[in-house]
Formats: sequence, structure tokens, C-alpha cells
Amino acid sequence: MTAFDDLMAFQRETEALSAIAGRLGWDQETMMPRGAAEQRGEEMAAIEGVLHARRTDPRLADWLGAVDEAALPPEGQAAVGLIRRDHARNTRVPARLAAELARVTSVSQGIWAEARRADSFDDFAPTLDRVLALKREEAAAIADGGDAYDALLQDYEPGATGAGLDAMFGALRPRLVALRERIMGAERKPRALSGTFAEDAQLALSREMAEAFGYDFSRGRIDKAVHPFSSGSGADVRITTRTAPHDPFNCIYSTIHEVGHAAYEQGIDAAHALTPLGRGVSMGVHESQSRIYENQLGRSRAFTGYLFGRMTALFGDLGVADAEAFFGTVNRVAPGYIRTEADEVHYNLHILMRFDLERRLVAGTLAVADLPDAWNARFAADFGVAVDRPSHGVLQDVHWSVGLFGYFPTYTLGNVYAGCLHQALRRDIPDLDEKLVQGDTSPATVWLRERLQRFGGLRAPRDTIAHACGFEPSEAPLLDYLDAKFGDLYGV
Ligand code: ZN
Repeated sequence: MTAFDDLMAFQRETEALSAIAGRLGWDQETMMPRGAAEQRGEEMAAIEGVLHARRTDPRLADWLGAVDEAALPPEGQAAVGLIRRDHARNTRVPARLAAELARVTSVSQGIWAEARRADSFDDFAPTLDRVLALKREEAAAIADGGDAYDALLQDYEPGATGAGLDAMFGALRPRLVALRERIMGAERKPRALSGTFAEDAQLALSREMAEAFGYDFSRGRIDKAVHPFSSGSGADVRITTRTAPHDPFNCIYSTIHEVGHAAYEQGIDAAHALTPLGRGVSMGVHESQSRIYENQLGRSRAFTGYLFGRMTALFGDLGVADAEAFFGTVNRVAPGYIRTEADEVHYNLHILMRFDLERRLVAGTLAVADLPDAWNARFAADFGVAVDRPSHGVLQDVHWSVGLFGYFPTYTLGNVYAGCLHQALRRDIPDLDEKLVQGDTSPATVWLRERLQRFGGLRAPRDTIAHACGFEPSEAPLLDYLDAKFGDLYGV
């Protein structure tokens, strides 16, 4: 056995244990009896302890020191590179700090949820202060003299920098604000869907949509959960969905979104399973898959034409005149406080403000006590509406409560990457709409699998997108897509 073989065998077992931990998490959100919560906490802590020990195992340093990387094929080099990166990160964080972070974030989410229910930022502020202080300490340890926010970003989007994202987002913001204002002033007002939609029919349709977008049910399943998510990789990738009686789009588009995430994991070459290459390469690239499935494909005029027929067949008269009116209904732009309910035009504005605020929090130029005022001022500037209460503003998202600083920008990066991929996809498959209008997404999903999904973690995130598109990614294709689609829809 060479050092490389030893390293990969050890890593394979770590990946398998990590998959088990992930499946426990899936179970907790879908199947677990309520009375099992306390015991499950102990079970999860036990397996996390095993994983932490393996990730900081001293033998890793020995193997990494002995491995002859130049003699390896590109896949082997990439795998060793990813193990080396994670090892450096994990060993820089002192065990005391890692344990304290785990302890604090295991209770902080509950405190945030309670504060949100009570609509009181003061109930949450001391906890957020503590979480932020620990994350800043962790960032300083990982950064090793570099930028703290950049260090945190690496956990979600390796290679990204705060300055790079700031330049990209700075170019997005004025054009998004201008588009939003044109739409708000438009005379055309697509109508919202009204009525009640039976749950079993919604779930049947969501399964049909999952199949239409290439989800492989022989290696996955769909269950109900409070929040939709995708979990697992390789041969076991599960998704969840939810239903709302008056809003079938929630179920349909949550499902298509999660199918995008799942298709990425299912599409990775089987040879990479249980290796560092066997997972989506970053949160941003992952989100590019879910967004292009959901928005550029699922909310296209062609595909909504197909969906209109299916929904009319299932639910009867929708109160919408025809497929063209339905396209407007699906893509209706409406201002709102809540990020997760935002349309394609508003969504990135939500993210841009969170990115700016969390960068200042991590840099220490914005205090937690001043966060609500900063939030509300920015929201009024970009959305033209005053936030009426904390649960509609600064308390709406779970992320910061559990220490996810540096995560938010990956949502907009995903949209930017989806814009790039969509431009390249339309270039390569000019007659795509002829298939989409029949509910056949396969030319697009096969293109994405062949150009991007199958490689897993082989290339760095940005290189993964550049390789798939044949050009360097930028925000321009997303902005052009949004201007064209919504300009046309609203006549602005
Ligand atoms: Zn997503």
C-alpha cells in the first residue's frame, strides 16, 4: 500500500460515516418520532465526535506528507488537494474552540426560533453576539493572517473572496433596483393564483415534475418536511417537499429546486462515490443547478406552457385565461419582506444586503446592537418598504444563529452561475423550447450532467462553471436574462 492508497482508504470510511450522519439528519426532519429527539441528539453528537477525530487524525499529516502527487492522475491530485485543504483548515482550529462552537450553536438555533416567535431582537442579541465572537475567533485561526471573511467563505465557496463578490454584487445591485422600480411602475399586473388545491394532487404533480427533470427514483425518494431540502450523494440522494393548500407553486417549484440539487449529486460519475470528488464542489455551484432547474427552465415560457396543461388537467379551471397569462402568474413580481418567498427579481437584493451586513459584522465595523437599524435602512433603500417587525426583517433567517457567516452570498453566486450556464445552454441547444413546451427537459439536463454534474469536485468551483460554459463567469448573463424576461413580461 502506498501513502495515497492508505489515505484514500481512510478517507473513504470517513465519507461513509459522514453519509450516515447526513442520513440521521434526513431522518430527523422526516421520519423520526417526536419522543426520540433527546436520544437523537446524543446519537448525532457521538458520530460527530468520531468524524471530528478522523478529520484531525495525526496519520493524515503523515500520509499527506508522503504522497507523491506528481505521479497521480488528475482525479487523484484533485482528491488529495481537497483532503489537504480540509486538513489544514481543521487542524488550525483549536479543539477547545471547535467544541465551544458546537456547544453554543446547538442551543442558539432554539433561542433564535423563540426570539422570532416573540418578535424580539433583544431576546436574540446576546446569543448572536456570542456566536459571532466565536466565528470571528475561528476565522482568525483559519485565516492565518489573511482576511477573516474570506476564511469563512472557504467553507462554502472555496476560492471566492469578499472583494471579488463585492465587485460582482456591486454590478448587480443598481440594475436590479432599476428593474424592480420599472416593474413596480408597470401597468401590466399578472394575477396571482387563487383557490384551494388538494394535497394529494399537489404531491402527485410534484413527483411528475421530479421525473420530468430527470430525478432518479431508484436512487432517491421524496418525503414531506417543514423545509424542503436535498440530502445525500451518489446512490442515495433524497429530497423533501411541502404543500400549502392555496399555493401549489410552492410545492412544485420547491420540488424542482431540490431536484436540481439532487440531480447534481446523482449525476456525479459513480467512480467518484465516497471520495472527496463525489460531492457537489461548492454551495454556489450547487445552487446554480437548483436555480437553473427551477427558474431558467422551470419558470420559462415554454415549460410553464406545459405545466399549465398539466395543472388544468389535475385541478380544473385555474382562473387563468391561457398559457401566456399563466406564464405571468408563475413569474409574478411582488415586493415582500421574506427572502424565501421572493421572486427572481427581488431575491438577489435580499442576498446582497445580507452579504454587506455580515461582512461588516465579521470585520467588526457593525455591532450586533446596531444590526436591526442597519438592516431596516438598507431594506427601505432597496425595496422601497419599511420593515414592520423583526420577524419580517433581521430575525427571519436561521443562518447567523448557527454561525453560517459567508453562506448567504452563495445563493446569489448560484443565480449568477445559473445565468452563465443558461446562456451557454441556449447557445448549444437553440431549439430547446420545442422540447420544454412538451415537458421534455432532457436536452438541458443531459447537457448539464455532461458538462458539469458528472465531474463532482474535480475542478475548483469557478473553473467548474467556466469549463461547462466555455467562458469566464460574470454577472452579465443573469442581468441580461432578467431584463429580457421581465421587461417582456411587464412591458418595461
Ligand atoms: Zn438550494
